[in-house]
Amino acid sequence: MLNIKNIRKKCRNLSRKKEGSRNRNRARKELARAYRKTNNQRKDFHFKTARRLCEEYAVICLETLNMKGMARRWGRKVHSLGFYSFVEILKYEAMKLGTQIIFVDRYFPSSQLCSVCGYKNPAVKDLKIREWECPNCHTRHDRDKNAAKNI
Ligand SMILES: [Zn+2]
Repeated sequence: MLNIKNIRKKCRNLSRKKEGSRNRNRARKELARAYRKTNNQRKDFHFKTARRLCEEYAVICLETLNMKGMARRWGRKVHSLGFYSFVEILKYEAMKLGTQIIFVDRYFPSSQLCSVCGYKNPAVKDLKIREWECPNCHTRHDRDKNAAKNI
């Protein structure tokens, strides 16, 4: 998708040029151009994806990602992947198109809670269970519809 290879090549190219030389200067400019191009491609892709999502859905739920933990594990890679800026773009497009964005804590047991009485049913954790009956208020639930109501 992105021209990482191109950047890597230009980076190598730059490091081979002699300090202070005209060739080095040119290589530096080429690298800067490659970076700009990659950034623009990524931004364009993010805007297109965000717009498509907002046109298609009235409500978008995002699981909040543990950015601190991710950055610890993968370092700068998380930022270069542009997760954060995508969320920002998505928020912007959602505002323009009237789509609602809901951030959900990923530990919120949306599928385990009865949307009628609030009873927590850990047995529903199993993804194979598509329908269940609340042991407390005896409401029949469709797994996904119940989870959506809770969110
Ligand atoms: Zn219930």
